[in-house]
Amino acid sequence: MPEKVIIIGSGPAGWSAAIYAARASLEPLLFEGAITEENRLAGTLPMGQLALTTEVENYPGFPAGHLETYLDDAIDGNRRRIMAPYANRGVSGPELMELMRQQAVNFGVRVVTDDVVEVDFDNRPFKLTSLEGKIYEALSVIVATGARANYLGLPSEEQYKNRGVSACAVCDGALPRFRNKPLAVVGGGDSAVEEAEYLSKFAATVYIVHRRDELRASKIMARRAMDNPKIEILWNRTLAEVLGNDSDGVTGVRLNSTVGEDDLVLDATGVFLSVGHTPNTAFLNGKLATNEKGYITLTTKGRTYTSVEGVFAAGDVADDYYRQAITSAGSGCMAALDAERTLAAKGLL
Ligand code: NDP
Repeated sequence: MPEKVIIIGSGPAGWSAAIYAARASLEPLLFEGAITEENRLAGTLPMGQLALTTEVENYPGFPAGHLETYLDDAIDGNRRRIMAPYANRGVSGPELMELMRQQAVNFGVRVVTDDVVEVDFDNRPFKLTSLEGKIYEALSVIVATGARANYLGLPSEEQYKNRGVSACAVCDGALPRFRNKPLAVVGGGDSAVEEAEYLSKFAATVYIVHRRDELRASKIMARRAMDNPKIEILWNRTLAEVLGNDSDGVTGVRLNSTVGEDDLVLDATGVFLSVGHTPNTAFLNGKLATNEKGYITLTTKGRTYTSVEGVFAAGDVADDYYRQAITSAGSGCMAALDAERTLAAKGLL
């Protein structure tokens, strides 16, 4: 018997799709990914990008830190009592993912710790082949394999990941280690500028390190960066090495010149890579329509439909714009509802 729905991916989109599909009696099977060295190096282990972050302060429902001390005066007694068990807690990325996973498992979701390496969407039921070589059949599929931030591949970058090296200012920028300190953002696109702008709220100075003498970012974004007194653009520079030590994490950067000048060494407590993302779509081998950057194309506005009827996409794998945990979770829910309604309309439930 084919599965009613197979979900591929174990970030917020995958788990949210699983929770909704399970509650709709679709008995979902979810591929959370394989635990391999290759996936570790690529940043594609189970639980996705959130598993690579620290505190998550912007996921609604998990107020971070010290409600007891600083909110006692501000909230009335009843609301204060409701929140009492959660005061002083917050949530980290890995915790949030474990909680979502457990919530799905509690509703009976079956989890396979393996990758899908090949898909056959030409025939019905669909066929998925796992890394272990098993073949699974499904009436519908939700692709929620996310994207991974591009890094430059420097050993020093790897060494200080989560200790000052990050690829997400919105996730990590407000951490104490970055406050009132110099920070570096590598890249020259809209993301780099946006990250720098965001970080400039906390940092003393934000250096944008760009390999050319002109930003790729749109004119309006570029102008904002140039007008921001806290942002300094370092033209024709590339990141050669992240400097740091075991106790402090990142302490600085060494920058090469692309125009033959001397190396530049700067103090910085954080290095934010903003050199693009890569959607995890290689395993689809072109079986779903994607845009020019490889993100899955959603074919109907406001729906999670892809170019193949019965295959849905949710989360970052189909979104190079918002890329937030909460938007991914929302689209995962949508994909489960779309799958349920599509199967019901075909009389397959
Ligand atoms: P982009 O591909 O636009 O930019 C990537 C940047 O990284 C480029 O400046 C590129 O340099 C640089 N880069 C890439 N590889 C390297 C490397 N190996 N070494 C040094 N630098 C490198 O990606 P973004 O994430 O910035 O943007 C993705 C999309 O999202 C874009 O379409 C963008 O417009 C959109 N976006 C829109 C926003 C908005 O409108 N508010 C906000 C954020 C993103 P080079 O320029 O030399 O190629």
